[in-house]
Amino acid sequence: MAGVTRLVLAGGGHSHAIVLDALRRRPEPGLEVTLVSPAAASPYSGMLPGHVAGIYSREAMHIDVRRLVAAAGGRFVEDAVARVDAPARRVLTRGGATIPYDLLSLDIGITPDLSAIAGADAHAIAVKPIGDLLDKLDRLVAAVRAPDGPQDVAIVGGGAAGLCLAFALARRLRAEAADAGRDGARLRPTLITAHALLPDLNARARRLARAALARAGIGLVEDDRACAIAPRSVTLASGREIAADATLVAVGAGAPQLIAQSGLATDPQGFLAVRPTLQAVGDDAIFGAGDCATSVTDPRPKAGVFAVRQGPALVENLRRAVRGAPLLPFQPQKDWLVLMSTADGRAIAARGRHLALEGRAVWWLKDRIDRRFVEGLAVRGARPA
Ligand SMILES: Cc1cc2nc3c(=O)[nH]c(=O)nc-3n(C[C@H](O)[C@H](O)[C@H](O)COP(=O)(O)OP(=O)(O)OC[C@H]3O[C@@H](n4cnc5c(N)ncnc54)[C@H](O)[C@@H]3O)c2cc1C
Repeated sequence: MAGVTRLVLAGGGHSHAIVLDALRRRPEPGLEVTLVSPAAASPYSGMLPGHVAGIYSREAMHIDVRRLVAAAGGRFVEDAVARVDAPARRVLTRGGATIPYDLLSLDIGITPDLSAIAGADAHAIAVKPIGDLLDKLDRLVAAVRAPDGPQDVAIVGGGAAGLCLAFALARRLRAEAADAGRDGARLRPTLITAHALLPDLNARARRLARAALARAGIGLVEDDRACAIAPRSVTLASGREIAADATLVAVGAGAPQLIAQSGLATDPQGFLAVRPTLQAVGDDAIFGAGDCATSVTDPRPKAGVFAVRQGPALVENLRRAVRGAPLLPFQPQKDWLVLMSTADGRAIAARGRHLALEGRAVWWLKDRIDRRFVEGLAVRGARPA
């Protein structure tokens, strides 16, 4: 492309944080970058359970994307994209702005879809968006300190996120209750999952996770779907009722509606359909990465590890698009390492069909990887105006 190329990055997710970091380290001549994000700092989900458990501060688990884009010589727009007008090559924001682009990249994550569980919208705490979750958890922590505060807490969702949150919440809420003079041991968390625990991981990892839950005094209900959530209970498909003064829901990843509403190509669930180059199907000017996009050739589960892996491939292809060079295919890995904290100074690692380990060394490794990742994206010096 000749002259200036206007790149609009929609969303400050993991892939875009890596794109901005690469562009600040090696600017691309002729590239003008605008980041549109509703928040100046993006949460890093790998450290979220550690934050909930009281191990990391809020700051430590956030990536300051406003600083990153400033360091990359770009512009930060604190707003959310409402629609993409692909024929006119512009995005329309919720705040009413119109931003033209030559290249657009979407990394806007998922939208919680709680519609499958009656009452969840009114009575449950959804894990996404994480900013809202953190505020609601602060209120739950405060409530647990009161003499008549919550005692039974349910976590719905037996994937890695729900499991790690169950460990983190159990540890934190018991500590808070005890600190306030309540009997922390009387706090009873229950993890509820519609399938087997950790359905995407191997059998050994499942065994280790079940043993860690038992050790932590967390109840586990498997193969029973949560159908309805009320202020004091969760009703399961079997008819069983689980007492719950507070319920957290870590299931139901929906596609951001703006993708389909903008007429962009989607997969059957409404996520942006992308080719191996990370370009949208049918539109060379639009790229997609992270949870909001699905590869039409190599689909993978929605997980931060892929959003992170796509970052370097995305920035390379954006550079190539600017220069008019051929784009490269991104090949996602077939096996990936999942590291899950049990919030007691230990963690579980799982990879592929057989490997699973548990212990203090695994936590040490996870903590080191996560801290390094976020610290590597930190921009030192004065905060941008
Ligand atoms: C508790 C928990 C723990 C997890 N732990 C792990 C883990 O250990 N390992 C792992 O691989 N995965 C983990 N995950 C999954 C992980 O969170 C996601 O896969 C990952 O965050 C996806 O990154 P992303 O870049 O696609 O989007 P996100 O990190 O969700 O970022 C999207 C960004 O886009 C912004 N945005 C949204 N809508 C708009 C809009 N319309 N316009 C502009 N900006 C917008 C949002 O504000 C957000 O900052 C965990 C998830 C949870 C909930």
